Amino acid sequence: MKRRYFIKSLAALLGTLTLGTSESRASDREYNWKMVTSWPKNFPGLGVGAENLANLINSLSNNRLKIKVYGANELIPPLEVFDFVAQGGAEIGHSGAYYWKGKSPACQFFSSVPFGLTSQEMNSWLYYGGGIELWEKLYNNFNLVPRPAGNTGVQMGGWFNKEINSMDDLKGLKMRIPGLGGEVLSKVGGVPITLAGAEIFTALQTGAIDATEWVGPYNDRAFGLHKVAKYYYYPGWHEPGPSIECIINKDSYLQLPDDLKKIVDTACKAVNIDMLSDYSMKNMLALKFLKDSGIEIKEFPSEVLDVLRETSSSVLKELSLHDDISLEIYNSYISFKNKISPWTKISNLSYLKTR
Ligand code: CA
Repeated sequence: MKRRYFIKSLAALLGTLTLGTSESRASDREYNWKMVTSWPKNFPGLGVGAENLANLINSLSNNRLKIKVYGANELIPPLEVFDFVAQGGAEIGHSGAYYWKGKSPACQFFSSVPFGLTSQEMNSWLYYGGGIELWEKLYNNFNLVPRPAGNTGVQMGGWFNKEINSMDDLKGLKMRIPGLGGEVLSKVGGVPITLAGAEIFTALQTGAIDATEWVGPYNDRAFGLHKVAKYYYYPGWHEPGPSIECIINKDSYLQLPDDLKKIVDTACKAVNIDMLSDYSMKNMLALKFLKDSGIEIKEFPSEVLDVLRETSSSVLKELSLHDDISLEIYNSYISFKNKISPWTKISNLSYLKTR
């Protein structure tokens, strides 16, 4: 494979060169890439992250690799990023892996799963626990190279117009909650509804839905959700630390000289930590605003969380039976979670209780 690829890429290289050694020419060559994203242009947090990633790659490479960012619907609709980059319509994309569960349900482990890893644990699994290798194995089937490139941190449980005191309060509840969280809600008698972000406000205002989750104080405040709901519940059991992904067309990635590959990888890592830091800061400010504006901020009762946790565990087990790679990823993720939990408990959790 490697040898064949080498010969192919050498031929491609020679085809574009007229003078000089291939080595010096490879490092001089300029690459112009398109980045497609699932976010509106410069959308707070997520869209800004895509923009930062492109700017960082442009400047670190001194514009040898130049990336132009297209927001959702500028070139393609938001949920066509995966296919478009896989087919080479754009060389690079910025999105969230759980959107691709139709390609493989295992994609969801690379964004966030209910009662799964926190952002810090997630990065640990991805960078040091074999997560990225499994992610590459999964996406290799689609001609894509994945990299973590952002994280929102733990999300909020969502906005409700009635109190949640027991499991009965979830029965028949029409809630905007996509993905696995929605599947769990449906198993306990709720009615999950999938709506794009822009439609949430009106749906909640008109009573078309009873509740919604979105992200956290920063993004939720921007949508004005505090104007159409009474209660803001925590924690975001369904999305405890969602990773945002950068996906690169594999042929395009392999064509880059090693230093540009390294720049792409390092820029993704930088944006991964930058987005999480930005979210923490902006959530901090928005939470204060929401508290000051009189919103009731409440914790889900522990008996409700207990049932949701047990239900989530069986939903994930079901998912793992889909195919061999889903089982392999599930096993790696769950065993990492089981192994890291004792450490998280006596470190972060224990310390935060004392603060
Ligand atoms: Ca969410």
